[in-house]
Amino acid sequence: MSEARDFDLFVLGAGSGGVRAARMAGAAGARVAVAEERDLGGTCVNVGCIPKKLFVHASHVPEEIAEAAGFGWTAAAEHFDWPTLLANKNAEIARLNQIYGNLLDKAGVTVVDGRARLVDAHTLEVGDEGRRYTAEHVLVATGGWPHLPEIPGIEHAITSNEAFHLERWPRRAVVVGGGYIAVEFAGIFHGTGVETTQLYRGPLFLRGFDEDCRRHIATQMRARGVDLRFDVNPTSLEKRGDGVRVHLDDGGTLDADLVLYATGRKPLTRGLGLEAAGVALDANGAVVVDEYSRTNVPHIWAIGDVTDRLQLTPVAIQEAMAFVRTAFGGEPTPVDHENVASCVFSQPPLGTVGLTESEARERFPGVDVYLSEFRPLKHTLSGSHERTLMKLVVETTSDRVVGVHVAGPEAGEIVQGFAVAVKSGATKAQFDATVGIHPTSAEELVTMREKTR
Ligand code: NDP
Repeated sequence: MSEARDFDLFVLGAGSGGVRAARMAGAAGARVAVAEERDLGGTCVNVGCIPKKLFVHASHVPEEIAEAAGFGWTAAAEHFDWPTLLANKNAEIARLNQIYGNLLDKAGVTVVDGRARLVDAHTLEVGDEGRRYTAEHVLVATGGWPHLPEIPGIEHAITSNEAFHLERWPRRAVVVGGGYIAVEFAGIFHGTGVETTQLYRGPLFLRGFDEDCRRHIATQMRARGVDLRFDVNPTSLEKRGDGVRVHLDDGGTLDADLVLYATGRKPLTRGLGLEAAGVALDANGAVVVDEYSRTNVPHIWAIGDVTDRLQLTPVAIQEAMAFVRTAFGGEPTPVDHENVASCVFSQPPLGTVGLTESEARERFPGVDVYLSEFRPLKHTLSGSHERTLMKLVVETTSDRVVGVHVAGPEAGEIVQGFAVAVKSGATKAQFDATVGIHPTSAEELVTMREKTR
């Protein structure tokens, strides 16, 4: 590394990926700086995974209390106090921000407050005062930002960024979109007693997930009372007193206190000076990288959402580890994006790893599908009619289980374990040879003997 430069590595963005890369490179002996214009921890910690999951927990409480009666308990969820949840969540996030700061400190990383941009291929400028730093390697880890369509009145909508800091919790909410964030917030609003309508422009939401699971989640959400509408999209938003009127392309209107748009996130690359440094971006504004997260400029790298590969925190962290091994460990390590498990924290949640049935049918000549839909044991007394769906997708010739899908309580917890099996290439025969844990829902995945199709 050149001593002539201020740092061996300058990281733009202290989110999940940037912090991990900075820490690991620091621990490996590199002189590292990371610039952040907002709070340490990025989207996941501040306006994503962590507060979202806390809100999901909050929204489950009333149903747990309602289900208590079947087990002999008398209880009532009387009042949801949003300011209490907000304050408790904020305190927890502040604690995590501090932990991130301490971790960077311990690894000897210099934290620079402010927005950094490249002025040339090795020089960064931070903040309005124009502090300048030079670095041997540059890592772009600036993440993504919610993207909203340009319809009249869109300024009256909020995104997930604002949903985590609302002044008042709504009484009626409209959620637009059919991906992770939209279904998660529809569940959060509905669970906390908000009259919730979710609008999706296509015939069935959660595009990209297994079709049986998408239908199952839609059925269960409707059964819970979410007003879930497909093939409809807002054409304009109109401010009306304290609320918003949503005009729909089917001619209808909806009145709400809050309209949340969750219509995807775009890479945050604007104004970073990447073009000036000669870094190639794709049509979506994402930084183009190779399997080692290297851009077309050999000493400039990019990881996480800004590369628009898989927009998931654990993937950004894996990419960070592989980058540090490649750039500072003398061990070129490609990132493996195959069989990445994930979970949509909808209600019920949807956990998944591997291929959907239709992806498997496109890839292999023979595919066996095992499906099981059942009422979880708890609900024999809880009074809930919610059902769980489990699905295995098997490649016939090799007998390998190429997809595991769970739509039901604890789907994320269940699929995390099964992801190891899928990643290791386990066969259906090996699933069958595994003894179940009784009574659990997960045992269904190792006891499905009858092929569905
Ligand atoms: P997604 O890409 O998952 O979903 C976007 C949704 O908005 C799709 O249903 C899309 O429809 C719809 N949409 C896009 N453009 C428009 C438009 N102009 N008008 C109406 N609808 C539109 O994005 P999210 O914002 O939900 O989340 C971003 C990413 O963050 C996710 O892809 C995921 O990777 C990550 N994430 C992960 C979570 C987890 O792991 N639990 C939680 C939250 C986010 P269509 O399908 O027709 O294109």
